[in-house]
Parts: sequence; structure tokens; C-alpha cells
Amino acid sequence: MSKLSMKKDGFAQAAIDELGWWRAHKFLFLRRASQLSVFILFAIGPLFSLWLLKGNLSSSELLGIVPLSDPLATLQVILTGHMPEFTLILGALIIAIFYALVGGRVFCSWVCPVNMVTDSASWLRRKLNLPRTSEMPRSLRYYLLAVVLLLPILTGLTVWEWVNPVPVLYRAALFSAGSGLWLLVAIFLLDLFISERAWCGHLCPTGALFALLGKLSPVKVSAVNAKACDNCMDCFVVCPERQVLKPALKGKQAMITNSDCTQCGRCIDVCAQRVFQYKNRIALKAENTQ
Ligand code: SF4
Ligand code: SF4
Repeated sequence: MSKLSMKKDGFAQAAIDELGWWRAHKFLFLRRASQLSVFILFAIGPLFSLWLLKGNLSSSELLGIVPLSDPLATLQVILTGHMPEFTLILGALIIAIFYALVGGRVFCSWVCPVNMVTDSASWLRRKLNLPRTSEMPRSLRYYLLAVVLLLPILTGLTVWEWVNPVPVLYRAALFSAGSGLWLLVAIFLLDLFISERAWCGHLCPTGALFALLGKLSPVKVSAVNAKACDNCMDCFVVCPERQVLKPALKGKQAMITNSDCTQCGRCIDVCAQRVFQYKNRIALKAENTQ
């Protein structure tokens, strides 16, 4: 049995003992608060006629002024050959610039509601001590992204948006559109029984596009104290994209530059040795030259 699979029971106990329960779960709670806050901002409009954020994750309006649009949904509309409204393009640009600055997959771990479904499957997987399954190639999501962008050119329709689980979950929760819930159950079961982190870590085209957007983001998680690593493997157990960790822990560069990192901060939470921190490139460079 690998060290990784043996860890699945009592992982993070060292961090809880060393840092306390709250600090060992801090970013997990902050992320859940962020995901729920975004949802509540959308929900209070239809419920209480308080339109702080009107629409859904595909297209919305902040305070009745600022347009916000999903870059992938907007790209699909453009590729159908129909020029979208200017506000849709402006909204997509605002979102693209925001995530290019803070980190593309910050969307995945701090905003996207599907993340709660896939994190739950991963948690249950650890609790049930289910065996690791053969992994799909992580590059599959980029091929799927290409297919999603090809479909509107071939069909003239934004086909992916009919089944994209990200807006489907919002529609289901906000408008009781229960028909889309089967998709989320399917993702949960896929992640639980077929392949670990299958959806968000291998398949989702939205996550793939956000990863591309965040490639040059100045904010990254860094293994600033890699020398203190005692190979306990807790970060590998909890990381949804564990392939990004090894270069930072074992390589010459502390910063996790692989844009598949969702910047979820769980590696920071569970590390008793305080190896990881959020850092910006400029501060890290300045520290390294001192
Ligand atoms: S990978 Fe896709 S479904 Fe998963 S959190 Fe990111 S956008 Fe949401
Ligand atoms: S490296 Fe850390 S921040 Fe990045 S995905 Fe893994 S656990 Fe999350």
C-alpha cells in the first residue's frame, strides 16, 4: 500500500495538533463562505427583490451597472457567428482580467458551486478509504475545451451551455430546475466511484479555460519553507491537483507556477510545518534576492 493511501485516515492531525483546528481548516471555511456568499448574492434578488447581483454565473449585472459574463459562454456565442451584445463582451473581459490577476482557478475553489459537490465526493472517498483508481490524463480537459469551442462553429448553437454543470447547479438551486440535478449526482458518483477528482481535475472545460487565463497571474501558492517538509504527504492527500506540488517541494522554484493549482489553500491549512503560503511573484523575488 502506498504512503499516500495509508495517510487517508488520519491526515492533517499533525496540523490540527500543531496549529489548532481553526488554522488547519481556515481556507476551507473561507472558501465555503465565499462560495455561499456568491450564491446568496444571486438568490436575494429573486427572493427579496434586492438586486445586488442579478443573473447567474453565465451572465450577470453587479449593482445594476457592472456587467459580468462567463468568458467560455461568451466565446461560444461569438463562435456561433452571432455577435453578442457589447455588455456581454465587456462582462467577459472584466471577468477574464480579474481572474488573470488573482489566479484563473480561484474561480474553481472560491466561487464555483460544483466544487462543493466534488470536494464532498473526495472527502467521502477518503472516509470510505476507497482505493485509488486508474487516472485519466489531466490534459483531457483541454481537449474537451477545444471540442466545446468547435461545437458552436459546427452547429451554430452554444451546445455546451445546455449541460454545463456550473450554470445547471445555479439554475437548479435558484429556480428549482430539478431536471439538471441528475448531472450533479452523476459527477458526484463519477468522482466517488470511478475516478478520483474526475470532473474538476480532468474533464471540466470551464476549469481548463480559467487555468489558461491564470497562467501569468502574479498571485500563487508557494512552498516558501520547502526545507521544513517532513514528507508527511498530507498536502498530497488533500490537493485536488497533486501533480502541481512536487516541482515546488522538490524542485528549485518554490512558487507553484502550474496554473492547474486552484489556489484553494488546503495545502497551507494541512501543513504542520508551515511550508506553504500565498505569495505574489514580486514579493517572492524581492525576498529571494535579499
Ligand atoms: S473545474 Fe469546473 S466544475 Fe470544477 S470547480 Fe472549476 S469550473 Fe467548477
Ligand atoms: S497546491 Fe495547494 S492551493 Fe494548489 S490546488 Fe493543491 S492544495 Fe490547493
